[in-house]
Amino acid sequence: AELPLFGQMPGDISVSFEFFPPKSEKMEAQLWDAITQLAPLAPSFVSVTYGAGGTTRERTHATVARIIRETGLVPAAHLTCVGASKAEIAEIVDQYWDAGVRRIVALRGDPPPADGGKFVPHPEGYTSAADLVAGLTARHDFDISVAAYPEVHPEALSAEADLDNLKRKIDAGASRAITQFFYSTDAYFRFLDKVLAAGITAPILPGIMPVTSFAAIRRMSGNTEIPGWLEAMFEGLDERPGPRALVAAVAAADLCKRLYDGGVRDFHFYTLNKAEQAYAICQLLGLRPNTKPVTNPVENAA
Ligand code: FAD
Repeated sequence: AELPLFGQMPGDISVSFEFFPPKSEKMEAQLWDAITQLAPLAPSFVSVTYGAGGTTRERTHATVARIIRETGLVPAAHLTCVGASKAEIAEIVDQYWDAGVRRIVALRGDPPPADGGKFVPHPEGYTSAADLVAGLTARHDFDISVAAYPEVHPEALSAEADLDNLKRKIDAGASRAITQFFYSTDAYFRFLDKVLAAGITAPILPGIMPVTSFAAIRRMSGNTEIPGWLEAMFEGLDERPGPRALVAAVAAADLCKRLYDGGVRDFHFYTLNKAEQAYAICQLLGLRPNTKPVTNPVENAA
């Protein structure tokens, strides 16, 4: 019998999309085109990243504020504590709370290159993401997401220490974790087993990043295994952006299908402010656009 890879998928999944704040008017137009195209897929939230060391503080805020003003989507603002005092963080989160933002993705952030790759807490700041989560929950009733690393954070002393750290972040008040991107489903499922064994019951959303360039992936993530077969799939495509984008979509769709077959129903897409690949993967997984207007009366009431 014919067994098409995607068959007739029931579309019983929920998705979230990550964007980064635009630097120019042209990039702003591209972002809004992506948001407009992806909104009918009714994401459970859309998140907006925070540039290294808080360099996009204003732009992240402006993007999140525009999402609240112009869409019915639920925004989640990323926030890092590296290089910031607790008072500065308090000011930022009070502004978010007053603007109606109810979700934060709480991160420590990467140390600035000047610190030689070693994280040094601000003298009046938070010492880690777990510490930040505790500070945020004490201040407002935010829904908080944190980062998780199926292939272990590069600075962690061990996989066990990193898992303990994830548990501290959840125990401090986070509701879910979003993973660093990965290309090995085995690594993700092995991690889920360890997470459960550690008594963590919060959802661990897989972060799906389409392959754009291996150089960029290597730069962005220390420990992510790039399987040999994946690299072979992209052989010779460096100067062929069109075929490369199609191959990347197939690779990401295949990853998502294997996750689905393993029981995953929540997917987080690193969209890089482009709609096509994320939309196509959702379509293949059976998700169809919601023709009713998307509104969230609770979270967007403020
Ligand atoms: P933490 O959870 O604090 O962990 C950092 C390291 O310290 C880990 O190795 C951990 O094991 C170790 N550690 C923590 N506490 C202890 C302890 N008490 N004892 C021993 N070891 C400890 N960066 C940005 O700048 N902006 C963004 O918008 C952004 N978004 C992201 C979104 C996702 C989904 C992910 C996965 C990452 C994102 N990052 C972002 C990158 C992130 O800031 C870096 O990976 C950073 O190096 C670690 O942040 P964290 O929140 O995981 O830190």
